[in-house]
Amino acid sequence: MMNFNFKQPIKLLASLAIGLSFAVPINQAAASEVNVYSARKTQLIKPLLDEFTRQSGIKVNLLTSKDDALLKKLESEGANSPADILITTDAGRLYRAKEAGVVQKAIKPELLNKVPANLQDKEGEWLGLTTRARVIVYAKDRVQAEELSTYEALTDKKWQKRICIRSSDNIYNQSLVASMIAHQGEEKTQQWADNFVENFARRPKGGDRDQVKAVAAGQCDIAIVNTYYLGQMLNSGDENEIKAAESVAVFWPNQNDRGTHVNVSGIAITKAAKNIENANKLVEFLLSEQSQKWYADANNEYPVVDGIEASETLKAWGDFKSDSLNLSKLGEYNSEALKIMDRAGWR
Ligand code: FE
Repeated sequence: MMNFNFKQPIKLLASLAIGLSFAVPINQAAASEVNVYSARKTQLIKPLLDEFTRQSGIKVNLLTSKDDALLKKLESEGANSPADILITTDAGRLYRAKEAGVVQKAIKPELLNKVPANLQDKEGEWLGLTTRARVIVYAKDRVQAEELSTYEALTDKKWQKRICIRSSDNIYNQSLVASMIAHQGEEKTQQWADNFVENFARRPKGGDRDQVKAVAAGQCDIAIVNTYYLGQMLNSGDENEIKAAESVAVFWPNQNDRGTHVNVSGIAITKAAKNIENANKLVEFLLSEQSQKWYADANNEYPVVDGIEASETLKAWGDFKSDSLNLSKLGEYNSEALKIMDRAGWR
């Protein structure tokens, strides 16, 4: 069985090996399988899937690839797809999978009930497994927390040429902008984007980690990043990454109004699924206390199931109010968000 105290995936592998003694007889395992298409890094999901096999006797065939490639693959394979399950990140992408008709409403209601309503599809076609917040990080030596408040306030002239953020073709930014459209409409969001872009310190480039490094290097004073990237940097073996991450602090935007923008990594049962019963067993396993704890710990994300503690790294940043917007909205407003970012010149 898994040990709840383990913080590192490596240590967990050792604990999983102990779990072997609980394995179901081989003949039963061979009779039963589930096929998973996953856009998550193998090391973030494979140990859990192995543990699922040991506990259930259900063999998991895992195919790991990039998010967009998996969606294309599901579309081209159609009803012949071997996939039963899609695991990916960002509600915007889960929405796309739903729109493309490659997933279906097959997750059992009692499993949907374990996850807050805003962190799942309105029709129950997908649900969140972990959450992540998109926060402001700031240079501890050049910015005071008191100077910050909301995403909206980042258009203030005082931030001119001081903000780093990745490009508009990244879905995390599209979803952030989509959340703003959902809350305050297109016109206000366009005005915001026009002025926000004016404050960029440089042309957007790189991933979220690169924005943190740019702040650490003095190229900008604040950045917008997903929480787990900072968590990964703080726990990395790379001295430069740790140093860069330690030079910034987390600011939770919009705590006095709607709350900080959050998103999910999530799961769906495919339209082509032939092993729906097993797929539901896997969803149930991933929502279990032990999986939620491990999955969230391994990547410094927040569990979706109530009452399960976040990792030590995340706990150190304190509690925050998250935006309770239904994440389906991020998909609904995605193309509008892209248009707004384009018009603003957010490359
Ligand atoms: Fe990411």
